[in-house]
Amino acid sequence: MKRLFLVPAVLAAAALAPAAVPTPESHFGHAVGADRTLIGWSQTVAYFRALQAASDRIAVRDIGRTTEGRPMIAAFLSAPENLKQLDRYQRNQKRLADPRVTPPEEAARIIAGHKAVVMITCSIHSTEVGSTHTAVQFAYRLLTESNPKFDAILKDVILILVPSLNPDGVDIVKSWYGRTLGTPFEGASPPELYQKYAGHDNNRDWYIFSQAETRNVVTQLHNVWRPQIVYDVHQQGPYASRMFIPPWLDPIDPNVDPILAQSANMIGTGMAYDLTAAGRKGVVINAIYDFWTPARHYQAYHGGMRILSESASARLATPMVVRPDQISQTSHGYLPRERSWNYLEPWLGGEWRVADIMADQMIAWESCLFQAAIRRTDLLRNFYAVNRNNAGRTSPSAFVISSKQRDPGLTRKLLETLAFGSVEIEKAGDAFQADGQTYPAGSYIIRMQQPYGGFAKTLLERQRYPDLRLYPGGPPRRPYDVTAQTLPLLMGVDVAAIDAPFEAKSTRAVSFAELPAVNQWFHFPGGRAPRVAIYKSHMPQMDEGWTRWMFEHLGIAYTSLGNSGVLAGNLHAQFDAIIFPDQTPASIHSGYGRGSMPEPLTGGLGEKGAAALKAFAAEGGSLIFLNGSCDYAIERLSLPVRNAVHGLSSREYYVPGSLLNVRLSARHRLARGLPEEIAIWNEDSPVFQIPQDAAAASVARYPATGLLASGWLLGEKYAANLHALVEVPAGKGKVILFGMRPQYRAQSYQSMKLLFNALMP
Ligand SMILES: [Zn+2]
Repeated sequence: MKRLFLVPAVLAAAALAPAAVPTPESHFGHAVGADRTLIGWSQTVAYFRALQAASDRIAVRDIGRTTEGRPMIAAFLSAPENLKQLDRYQRNQKRLADPRVTPPEEAARIIAGHKAVVMITCSIHSTEVGSTHTAVQFAYRLLTESNPKFDAILKDVILILVPSLNPDGVDIVKSWYGRTLGTPFEGASPPELYQKYAGHDNNRDWYIFSQAETRNVVTQLHNVWRPQIVYDVHQQGPYASRMFIPPWLDPIDPNVDPILAQSANMIGTGMAYDLTAAGRKGVVINAIYDFWTPARHYQAYHGGMRILSESASARLATPMVVRPDQISQTSHGYLPRERSWNYLEPWLGGEWRVADIMADQMIAWESCLFQAAIRRTDLLRNFYAVNRNNAGRTSPSAFVISSKQRDPGLTRKLLETLAFGSVEIEKAGDAFQADGQTYPAGSYIIRMQQPYGGFAKTLLERQRYPDLRLYPGGPPRRPYDVTAQTLPLLMGVDVAAIDAPFEAKSTRAVSFAELPAVNQWFHFPGGRAPRVAIYKSHMPQMDEGWTRWMFEHLGIAYTSLGNSGVLAGNLHAQFDAIIFPDQTPASIHSGYGRGSMPEPLTGGLGEKGAAALKAFAAEGGSLIFLNGSCDYAIERLSLPVRNAVHGLSSREYYVPGSLLNVRLSARHRLARGLPEEIAIWNEDSPVFQIPQDAAAASVARYPATGLLASGWLLGEKYAANLHALVEVPAGKGKVILFGMRPQYRAQSYQSMKLLFNALMP
């Protein structure tokens, strides 16, 4: 009987599909997600274009070029009658996004005839290969299958599907995987950043907007469409849950509207419900991932909710077998071996492959979209309500940026950053008074009574990260990422929060070209640019990429210097300064271990490399070490300073990415052009102790108390009165140790000047 039933069903499905819609198999030459296969970017783009040619349920749009010049695309999927009216729906979104111009009665009228807009974004982290494959398979199914849920989705939802937020990485990973297939290195992560500058940090870029991919997606999709839901699809490690979905863990940024946080709880839990009902095991909610920073949650400050899923990874496209004893004992928020309310069916080992990842994602996507369809009017009403709540914010009433600033270039950078995120900025025509202060004509005003006031507020205020512990009195609970994002401190711009309402004659400012561009600040006196090398280890380092990006952005020339270049010696004939980015000492000294990577990639600088560096300094060169690499210098170059926080437990001393106050030695050449007190980015940074008889100069020193400027700090007494930046003479040259990230993720422009000054002889 079963057989008899199955055959006609297959025939019926085939009859429904328009003959011209190409199957993924026919296009790619294999089932998408088959073991040991990965799809490439140009093939993927070609497939989406072929779908568009064959179906009236999809419209493919180009949204710009990647860092390395590949096309980025977004596919709009909905019923044909909806796709014909995309302009109208886009206008509707714009009206609902601004309750200042759209009264409630008009909003109600719009909502009655409107659709929910959901954006699904894939594979920003390119080794998390599953979701680009799911995008292909899911799009094909949505165009060719008919079932009640898909019908509801097509009718009431406009899906914006971005098959990859990082197309360069799709090809980087595919190429590496192809080269290593069938070798002992099959399934290993590629030995290069999968986004040219940011690597894995590319999803921490959603408020500084430094990378081409971020800028394309914000200008072409987020700021135009303001989706009610943005669902970003990721993968996690292989040894715990099969999939994470919100509710998020604490903390939740106070500037995120509670309706949005609650709606992520609701939709996420609904997705877990559908996965469990479909028989999928290992689904966890309310674990690991928090809702703190705008770096990953752009839409949550622009009226939309953020959904994330994190599927367990295989070894790229190579299946793996997880033994029961390999399942983690603990994780944040749940025990992977135990049943709990948020992890009802533990996954305790077995085979795992891309096809499993795709199967989970397919159910999760359908669930998210179907919930958006059936709760369409709620989502739209609450989208309007969240924007109205934001525009009604009264405390503070505004932020004011005086036109009198130490660095107009960085003031412009800050203003342009806010404006890129749709923040409305006014410029005062005359002097005005606010909170008892007089501000000169030309000062900038950012009023909080605007839909994206919360975005401005979280970027302009100091963060107070809650003191979360694993258990009462226990060690700190690690934040998912860092804890601070205060742009005025990162850029050294004076910004005042104004409490009382005030009057000022002002006009909307959309261009800040009257201020100098930031890269005009960074020029070398007399045009004599030092010859700079940036060390590049075989092990890819995000901070190395960020350093390159910052140098290129500011127009500072550099050479990438690898292990072989250092080992060849004769460095002083080629360079004046060598920078070591933030990385572990082992990644410099030892690199990849023998057998863990193809032979030419293994090894580090070793003793011979350290000797070449010492010779470079002895002959007059400057060795500059950033953050984690300082421990390499202290150890391998036998420096007479000590890292006072080395070996302390997180219970004693903890700085997981925060802004700390330091005082600069005003007369030191490294402090040139900077105020005496600044905030620096400390992220597990070394803190230097200088023995009394040591020939080392302090450039930046922590105060006795009150170290924390923004974020979270435990155990300030361990850093109090000690040093964050020191210069140690070495022969005719010097070694400069930055106990900070002076060019942190293309954000800390003020302390970047310290690094810039360090380049000069
Ligand atoms: Zn990821």
